[in-house]
Amino acid sequence: MKEDQLLTRRRVLIAGAAVLGAAGAAGTARLLTAESAAKPVRSASPVSGAGAQPHRALKPSAHRLQPMTGYGPPRNRPARTVVRHKPILRMTGRGSSMVLTFDDGPDPRYTPDILATLRAYDVRAMFFVCGGMAVDNKDLLSEMADDGHIVGNHTWTHPLLTQLSRSEIRYEMERTCELIDDAYGEPPLWFRAPYGAWNRATFQIGAKLGMEPLAWTVDSLDWLTPPPGTATIVERVEDGAAPGVVILSHDAGGDRSRTVAALRDYLPHLLDSGYHITVPRRQFF
Ligand SMILES: [Zn+2]
Repeated sequence: MKEDQLLTRRRVLIAGAAVLGAAGAAGTARLLTAESAAKPVRSASPVSGAGAQPHRALKPSAHRLQPMTGYGPPRNRPARTVVRHKPILRMTGRGSSMVLTFDDGPDPRYTPDILATLRAYDVRAMFFVCGGMAVDNKDLLSEMADDGHIVGNHTWTHPLLTQLSRSEIRYEMERTCELIDDAYGEPPLWFRAPYGAWNRATFQIGAKLGMEPLAWTVDSLDWLTPPPGTATIVERVEDGAAPGVVILSHDAGGDRSRTVAALRDYLPHLLDSGYHITVPRRQFF
């Protein structure tokens, strides 16, 4: 891919992130989207800056606050993640922005087709991956990084976290953070509890690992058994479309061919309707 194309994509991303994060704290906030999209041209990118440390140099304390080294704020970690009492359900901001999220993968049978569709429309999305799926599909995580998508933590084995002990929850989440760091190139800044089952421990541990909890606004219900038809998924997404909406769908966990087909159908419709499909940015405090 040509560098000018990537730079164009990054400008688009920055514009989108600015819309979603309009209320953000100027100066201290970092554009996660810009960082992700800048990966392929990082060496020439003003985003990473001349003083940026190579990512590997941040280990083994990548989940903790990095000391400042004279070149501005830490490259990719917030100073602190506030413990929430409920997950984020939608994005705030101006403009007709929406976020597409795909959970439970990656699955080599479906994820590549979803990535190809997103690439065809030059759109960024979020993938909440399970460590147990990602460990055998690290190439798909690096592909997500190359395309500027956000990879979030969806635990290792997709358990009902509310039935686990604190140490079990921590193990599920921490192990997945490490795998994402390894395969995607950065530790995740977002997590999503399987089944949307959150409790105090999940918020506390997630925050300690530097992640914000993101749920969803509209469930495409593509996970139902038997799975709904493509047209039904398209209808749910298009009916649910509104500024700030976060869509939930799945690229693994069963036969997701209808999810793949539905995306090909509704994505151009959403774009034609004026929606800006983008990814959220983290606010760093
Ligand atoms: Zn899930």
